Amino acid sequence: MVYQYIIDFIRSLYPNRETVPLHEPYFGGNEKKYVLDCIESTFVSSVGKYVDRFEEMIKDFTGAKYAIATVNGTSALHIALKLAGVQEGDLVITQPLTFIATCNAISYCGAEPIFVDIDPDTLGMSPDSLANWLQENVELKVERVEEGLEGLDPQPSQLSQPSQPYKPYHKINKKRISACVPMHTFGHPCKMDSIVEICNRYHIPVVEDAAESIGSYYKGKHTGTFGKLGILSFNGNKTITTGGGGMILTDDDELGPLAKHLTTTAKKPHPWKFEHNMIGYNYRLPNINAALGCAQMEMLPEILKNKRETAHIYQDFFQTITDINFITEPEDCISNYWLNAILLKDMKERDAFLEQANAQKVRCRPAWILMNKLEMFNHCLTTEIPISEKIESKLVNVPSSYRNN
Ligand SMILES: *Cc1c(COP(=O)(O)O)cnc(C)c1O
Repeated sequence: MVYQYIIDFIRSLYPNRETVPLHEPYFGGNEKKYVLDCIESTFVSSVGKYVDRFEEMIKDFTGAKYAIATVNGTSALHIALKLAGVQEGDLVITQPLTFIATCNAISYCGAEPIFVDIDPDTLGMSPDSLANWLQENVELKVERVEEGLEGLDPQPSQLSQPSQPYKPYHKINKKRISACVPMHTFGHPCKMDSIVEICNRYHIPVVEDAAESIGSYYKGKHTGTFGKLGILSFNGNKTITTGGGGMILTDDDELGPLAKHLTTTAKKPHPWKFEHNMIGYNYRLPNINAALGCAQMEMLPEILKNKRETAHIYQDFFQTITDINFITEPEDCISNYWLNAILLKDMKERDAFLEQANAQKVRCRPAWILMNKLEMFNHCLTTEIPISEKIESKLVNVPSSYRNN
């Protein structure tokens, strides 16, 4: 049976394991040393040299002008959306095939997601679907002045909006479209130049959910650095981990410092006074997590190389199997191949394969259930999404951890 052949092959990539996990962390460098250093110095919490060092390493690696570490990727996205100007009652465009965190962060802002389709080659937001939806549903109008807002201290969302005369509103429900959040699925970059160009035409800021794509590049530029803001995640199942952690990326000289202000306690700098001038979120990454991050960043090139080799081994293998397609990096892209993915013939075949692999503790899993099908979001606006539906029904992620053997 071909499925047994595939499962045996996956086992051969991760030998001598009772369970083959989907993705586990790899600690092969200075992780213990740096974490121990935090404990011995007592600097385990919100102050310490590793946070700054980790942020510097991320800036160097991604090319972003500002990098602000947070407790997780979800909180990074929450603040990035706020800084992009997302407010209560707004609409935020994203894709139905994504991890729940994308839509949770949109919801924390009091906004609602709108779902446009994905492309079959990137598994990320389709510029065509986005452009069509905007064309049909959005009109540019002179900014509404919210009653009661005048005279107050500027809100971060106002600060971030340069005085553009026109704002995008939904033609029928009159809600403001305040951001667009493409997500780089499993590490494969979306078509960022088209997405940014389309959004610019409509004055919609782009916030990239690059949680899965550290080490992935679109036309030579790191993912997460195309939009007004971007975010990364360092959760335990991601390419590198800090236990829990995230990062806000931006080149904006106003938003970068403001991101730091909001993710801490929004305290005015002063040698001894405690004066806070905004509602801060205390989303700051602890030093002990950042210590892990510094060690993981040192390992990142090696981890990416190893994962790329694994992807090529899978690619060659699945080329020999009919009716199964291995997802490769899109044109003009370098993918980090965070999670390798295959497309089976249909949902029945997918379920049969998942059943057999998991029974043998080879941890394969289906794609996320599309966001527009979940009870929290099934009332949200959705375009025709044939590609998302098709991918959801046939896709399987296969074990993709660093191979240490
Ligand atoms: C992992 C992930 C996040 C952030 O998750 P955290 O667990 O909060 O770090 C956000 N979006 C996507 C698409 C993700 O995969």
